[in-house]
Amino acid sequence: MGDQHKTLRDLPVEENVAPGTMLCAGCGGVLLVRIFEKILGPNTITLNAAGCMSMLSVFPYTPFKSSWLYVAMASAPAAAQGVRDALDIMIRKGRIRPEDDLKVVVITGDGAAADIGLQTTSGALHRNLDFYYLVYDNEGYSNTGFQASGSSPFGAATKTTLPSKHVPEGSLLEKKDLFEIWRAHRPPYVATVSPAYIADMMRKVERASQFAGPKLFIAHSPCPPGWDIDSGAVIRLAKMAVETGVWPLKEAVHGQVTHSLVMKKRRPVEEYLKMQGRFEHLFSPARQEDVLQKIQAKVDGYWKSVTERSL
Ligand code: SF4
Repeated sequence: MGDQHKTLRDLPVEENVAPGTMLCAGCGGVLLVRIFEKILGPNTITLNAAGCMSMLSVFPYTPFKSSWLYVAMASAPAAAQGVRDALDIMIRKGRIRPEDDLKVVVITGDGAAADIGLQTTSGALHRNLDFYYLVYDNEGYSNTGFQASGSSPFGAATKTTLPSKHVPEGSLLEKKDLFEIWRAHRPPYVATVSPAYIADMMRKVERASQFAGPKLFIAHSPCPPGWDIDSGAVIRLAKMAVETGVWPLKEAVHGQVTHSLVMKKRRPVEEYLKMQGRFEHLFSPARQEDVLQKIQAKVDGYWKSVTERSL
């Protein structure tokens, strides 16, 4: 890895996650896991909290070239501590050479990251554990039928926030700001990434690799069945999320935030919402103007604060 990672052509050719898994066609999460493992290279050990990606490896099959461990939903960062400690002890005892050390990688969905595993992540951040963490944020518990998670956005329909006569909005709760929750612990590196901006992701992983300690990535991960979108629309939708300002591309190095991309003119958030069946109730049978305005105002408010901070 190096500064050369500027375009898709710079992506390593070598695959560390083989194709042909049982996951859904067009899954944004699996695409990001594949790219992430490509950038990190073959010397990794991956700890996978229960979720969609834990269906990648089902004994005796695995698409991972390197070692992979399945752990309980709450425990991946704690298990990563055990693996990191074991590697350090083996190096100290001369049982493995320092050059054969492995990068410890945690992969979870947003349910584990924002809800069930938040405590163990906080502990790992507090201990300054040297590991990579990728959360594929599909904004719901997709592995069990798409119930709402702490990462589901306001206005989204999920299996547990179905729009009704009494609650026409769908989800009434706002999406947790995992970036800020993680950043509050002041780890060396936190970033958001998108499957539509792979060069940006390469640059960020490369930058993060310079730091010892937690290196955390929150990945926008469109989920065709959960978001009710066509599997061919995933990258278009991911791009739209950035162009509307819904998914800011940013990083924080030791707490200092910079945005990788600040749009001069953002598209209306509606364009992003209209592409997804989970927001259809905001437009039909009647347009929910107040809800749409609230969603747009939140995005506008975010970017206003970004602009004011940089003045
Ligand atoms: S349910 Fe969604 S996140 Fe899970 S494998 Fe399918 S597309 Fe991916």
